[in-house]
Amino acid sequence: MTNASVYPAASNDTCLIFAVGDISVGTKMLPTLSPNARIEFRAAPPQNMLEPTTKTFLKQAIETCDAGHEECKRNRETSFLPTRLIDVRDENKVRLVAGSAISSSSSSSSSSSTCGTPRYAALSYCWGPGYHAQYQLKTTRDNIDAHFTEIPIDQSPPLLRDAIYATRELGVSFLWVDSLCIIQGDREDWVREAGTMHKVYGGAYITICPTLSKSCMRGFLRREAPSITLPYLSASGEPVGTYNIRYQRSWLWKMYYSVASDPFTQDLIAGSWVRRGWTFQEAALSSRMVLFGATAAHFQCRKSRVTEGEGYETPVEIGELALFPLLPSTLTKQNMGSAWRHIISAFSGRSFTQPTDAILALAGLAHHFHSFQTGADDELVYCSGMWLHHLHEQLLWRCTVYDGCPWPLWRCVLDPQTPERVQTFAPSWSWVGHKSVDYQYLDDYNNGNRSSSRTPMTDETIKITSRLPSLFSSLSENSDDSDEDDEPDRFVSWHGQTLEITALTATFPMTRVDIPPLPNHDSNEANTNLFWTWNIANEYLCNANWDFLNLDLWKEVDRSDLARLRMVLLSSGSGSSDSSSSDSSDQSGDESGDESDESDSSKKSNENENENENENKETEHDDRAAFGLFLFPTAGNDNGGTTFYRVGTWYSLPKGKGGLANFKRHASVETLVVI
Ligand SMILES: [Zn+2]
Repeated sequence: MTNASVYPAASNDTCLIFAVGDISVGTKMLPTLSPNARIEFRAAPPQNMLEPTTKTFLKQAIETCDAGHEECKRNRETSFLPTRLIDVRDENKVRLVAGSAISSSSSSSSSSSTCGTPRYAALSYCWGPGYHAQYQLKTTRDNIDAHFTEIPIDQSPPLLRDAIYATRELGVSFLWVDSLCIIQGDREDWVREAGTMHKVYGGAYITICPTLSKSCMRGFLRREAPSITLPYLSASGEPVGTYNIRYQRSWLWKMYYSVASDPFTQDLIAGSWVRRGWTFQEAALSSRMVLFGATAAHFQCRKSRVTEGEGYETPVEIGELALFPLLPSTLTKQNMGSAWRHIISAFSGRSFTQPTDAILALAGLAHHFHSFQTGADDELVYCSGMWLHHLHEQLLWRCTVYDGCPWPLWRCVLDPQTPERVQTFAPSWSWVGHKSVDYQYLDDYNNGNRSSSRTPMTDETIKITSRLPSLFSSLSENSDDSDEDDEPDRFVSWHGQTLEITALTATFPMTRVDIPPLPNHDSNEANTNLFWTWNIANEYLCNANWDFLNLDLWKEVDRSDLARLRMVLLSSGSGSSDSSSSDSSDQSGDESGDESDESDSSKKSNENENENENENKETEHDDRAAFGLFLFPTAGNDNGGTTFYRVGTWYSLPKGKGGLANFKRHASVETLVVI
């Protein structure tokens, strides 16, 4: 074989190209690599993750952040120390120490921050499957005293050994690892320590993250040489077998190629760490991280990200939360609604051993947002993974993955006698329990600008109230000062929580719409057939995003059921799908004016910081798009009852028979309870 050949590596996202012979001659590509993909050429990474050049790069990145990033310093809890830490200073004897014992006694200037609090690193990693996790070295009630004398590192899995080594090499004296610093099997200790998680990661000098981490049994400081399997062709070109080529560092192998995405993204998507649910908030709550990836080492703080060997700094923005959850310094009260939507989009795609863990694994981050909003009382209420103050947008999540729910089962889901989903996971209106939700269509259609991470929408509801079940005796409304004692419950509970929505509603015009509905074709969307378009006499009416109902099942749909669908108006937006209008900041008057209370109006001014918000008032109504929920009456609720399930979202663009003004013509104000 004399030509260069391209073969897929570990995933479809990443390709390694091994040049054999003259690469200028006849490059052959396999179908997994798009012919249009841009091919980059980059120096191969060293096999040892902590070579002197990498250490220098990481230390410099940390120093640059220390010296120049005021916002990073401000956001780090430099005075906090966890209950227990691993003292890694002595190579021959690693042991547990109490945070309180070292807070006053540290004297080593190299390991102390300027204010005297000792620095520690925190580890974010995956324990791995049960058969690996059983080999995890753990602190228990039985061995905690021994661990304060010495931790038997020779018995620890490779990942922990590497983390200890990396901490020491980065010049940090202490390390926090959950398996050793929280007493395993001790519920009381777990609850207490889990409650400080945002401080543990937020206070760490650095968070260490092996992006390839699949399990504690796999170390991360030695890159495995990539290898590929090539077909062995006979003289006539017939495949007669295969052979492997393993990467070796030599002048010949000094370069490798990759498809066009930056090495940071590649390293994230190639590993398991970014897919696990529990690691999400560990990153989100960290003030900065070093990431050891397959292609390079990376440093990210709240301000920027740098990759070894790339020579440029990437500023981090709110829109990037979908890629990597470390909260950027640009997060403010004004954009927290948009930031949370990015967070939900990214987080809902993560995997959990127990789906019900999702809300628990987000609790620390919710706490952080809660404290972040201190001073704005009407923004404080957290309900089932969303914020009451932003529900007019956050309720508009849509499913991007078809759950495979056949029509009879869909009917079953709607039957309140067996509301399995609601009982097991979450209220129907909450995204919790759904896999991979997003808000992309809001950005696309409301802003008309895909690059914008901000979606200013006008709240069209009159009132939304969230109720926890009576067990928690908590009732909170938009303008309520919530009882602080009840707040912790809200971060971890979701069972039975209901919403009471007072808004414009209309019955879905089933008898008038064209049958069958149309699939909503958008080349940028994965075709899940969950997105439909409805017309009336060939004129556009609205789009539907179903939570369960797939267009492939249309022939099984009971049309009389669809006639019972209720459309509830939540928001309106500019609704332009082209970017010709510059009215993304426009704020139209509130039709529900008389009934808007004080908190309602404060919602709007908080969400939209634009100065010119009074421009275009009144004149824009006919051009606005409407956004809302599809609700379905619970059984026994056919004759005027008010209890409903959410079954999807709809939006109606201002064209044909669609748009806000048309909707309002057929709607009336109602108060509905959504379970
Ligand atoms: Zn920084």
